[in-house]
Amino acid sequence: MKKFYITTAIDYPSAKPHLGHAYEKTVSDCIARWHRLWGEEVFFSTGTDEHGLKIQRKAKEAGKTPSQFVDEMSADFKKLCAEWDISFDRFIRTTDPDHEEVSKKIFQKVFDKGDIYLGEYEGLYCADCEQYYLEKDLVNGNCPVHGTKAELVREPSYFFRMSKYQKQLLEFFEKNPNFILPRARKAEIVNRVKEGLRDLSVSRTSFTWGVPLPNDPKHFLYVWFDALINYISAVDYPKGKFKKFWPADVHVIGTDISWFHCVIWPCMLFSAGIEPPKSVFIHGFIKLPSGKMSKSKGNVVDPLDLSQRFGSDSVRYFLLRDIPFGEDGIFEERLIAERHNSELANELGNLLNRVLVLIEKNCNGEIPQATTDSNLAVKLNLKKIQANMARFETHLALAEIMNFVKACNAFINEKEPWKLTGKSQQKVLYSSADALRMAAILLSPFIPNASKKMLDQLGVGSFGKSDLQFNKLRAGTKTKRGEVLFKKIEK
Ligand SMILES: [Zn+2]
Repeated sequence: MKKFYITTAIDYPSAKPHLGHAYEKTVSDCIARWHRLWGEEVFFSTGTDEHGLKIQRKAKEAGKTPSQFVDEMSADFKKLCAEWDISFDRFIRTTDPDHEEVSKKIFQKVFDKGDIYLGEYEGLYCADCEQYYLEKDLVNGNCPVHGTKAELVREPSYFFRMSKYQKQLLEFFEKNPNFILPRARKAEIVNRVKEGLRDLSVSRTSFTWGVPLPNDPKHFLYVWFDALINYISAVDYPKGKFKKFWPADVHVIGTDISWFHCVIWPCMLFSAGIEPPKSVFIHGFIKLPSGKMSKSKGNVVDPLDLSQRFGSDSVRYFLLRDIPFGEDGIFEERLIAERHNSELANELGNLLNRVLVLIEKNCNGEIPQATTDSNLAVKLNLKKIQANMARFETHLALAEIMNFVKACNAFINEKEPWKLTGKSQQKVLYSSADALRMAAILLSPFIPNASKKMLDQLGVGSFGKSDLQFNKLRAGTKTKRGEVLFKKIEK
């Protein structure tokens, strides 16, 4: 059986989840579900990155211990997963004891390889980013991301000899053209690596909320060194699922953390003697028409509020349909409503309703005996949809599935089954119901709840890869027309 391992980045729970978190999880979930649909053995992990100075500070501000604080905050991210139908196999927290063990093990491996040395680090540090900045990258001495003043920090620190892996990394990029996706993102990273890799400070003494180094417990593992290791601890490195699922097929991440995933992570794995992941897919940001969302502007969209008001299927549908994966996207509530009304309600919901009403009226609510009209069946371009999904082009795959749904409505309009009788009428009704079944199955990775409801109403229970062909709808199946699937959203 083919395996597929997909991960999201793990989220830093210093604040509540925002729409960007929901977006990354939704796309990854859709891809995971797609691979499951085709019978692959899938492992999908997501989680929270819970160590470091910033968490330690935030907890203090909230009058809590770091442990209480991350328990509460990480629960919000789990809730997001539940509300948005994120079908993860593991929700990993970097405070999980098995993860901490693996982190120490990997550090030890890198240490034993001779790639760790004690030095001293002095630099301009942004606690919110958990990283040092070069003076030239600051804006008037302030962090370019947070706008807060970077602090001059000096501390003894263990360093990872990342410089040693520059050549190996460039060769790896060369041999693996799909390591950085979309490919358009690659050049910038390659050029930065060519400018030279500096050794990386991987321990801190400035906080205690973290993983202590096995060789020197006054030092705590730098948050990123710890966090990246989640991808192998999630699959129980070095045993069990790790053997089956590693290397990961894809890490799905945002542009702001591409350096950590495309450069630091493979160098760490080279040193530890572990194969790098097959690819890192860098998605864009979701923006408002007025620009970036930010806490200081007070325009951050709450994903839980959205899913409660619109339903998870409609918000998922909008994100997967409207935003080309890998590019920045614009978010507006108006756009969710437009997609919902024009495609989910008018096309898909309408198709379900009219097919079921016709079958009730003319066939006593039972699927008639017939085969699917080949002129309708050819309108489904399954090969194209598969190719789109293999390239993570959910928006194109979804457009193609919806083209087929439109073709089904057009087929009914053209054949006018209400004017037909006998075998010719049965053929049109069977074809429409069987086509709808196919559409509903193909939509299951995108809108899992609605897909299930559609299949329930068609009398179809569980399904798998072998159901992804026409004429699989059994004659005599009782249909169960239910509530209207997508009610129109009024302005
Ligand atoms: Zn910052």
